[in-house]
Amino acid sequence: QLKISDLSFSYNKKEKVLNDFNLEINKGEVAALVGRSGSGKSTILRLTAGLEIPDSGRIEIAGKTVVDEQKFLAPEKRKVGMVFQDYALFPHLNVYQNISFGIDHLSKKKRKERTAELLELVNLAGFEKRYPHQLSGGQQQRIALARTLAPGPKLLLLDEPFSNLDTELRDKIRKELKSIIKEIGITTILVSHDKNDAEFMAEKEILLN
Ligand code: ATP
Ligand code: MG
Repeated sequence: QLKISDLSFSYNKKEKVLNDFNLEINKGEVAALVGRSGSGKSTILRLTAGLEIPDSGRIEIAGKTVVDEQKFLAPEKRKVGMVFQDYALFPHLNVYQNISFGIDHLSKKKRKERTAELLELVNLAGFEKRYPHQLSGGQQQRIALARTLAPGPKLLLLDEPFSNLDTELRDKIRKELKSIIKEIGITTILVSHDKNDAEFMAEKEILLN
């Protein structure tokens, strides 16, 4: 489902962030990417999502090459959904507008249905009209997840999704997120610096040195 082969990358010519990096994740599998700060976890997600261009190597998603020496598929064409740590929601848009942001090619009716379905999935049915500042941290995280899932990605990338939450909320969100991922069976990479999160969420752990 995701195959990264001999991937090399540097932000500047001086220091290599990735040197012939390889990774394989099966369909429906949840993998945790762990490693110290600065080891390149976010960089791997950004390369997979198409937000950076590798120096060399290849990335395949759902059997299709999205980048290699000849080819570069734009992020919106990769069927990848990424939840960023910091830029969770657009503050000036309500929940409905946030979730339907990535599906504006659908008819109004379809968008309404899809949004309602996703709100149901993340246990926040009826929250369409709320603005981000009217939601708790955990609710915002769940809306961010719903927004990412709206276009129907085949691969879900989560960069430290629990880092802004207190311990209690973290436990709750972790459980919810795990059951949502199970329910839709989506292939997922979770970046975390927390061993417990990784063990709880993932079937496989990848340690970056
Ligand atoms: P953290 O756990 O702190 O989030 P990380 O494993 O996600 O760390 P990355 O953000 O992938 O690490 O960074 C890998 C390396 O690339 C680091 O040395 C970092 O300083 C460097 N780096 C990251 N982004 C840039 C950038 N835009 N320009 C130059 N160097 C960068
Ligand atoms: Mg990072």
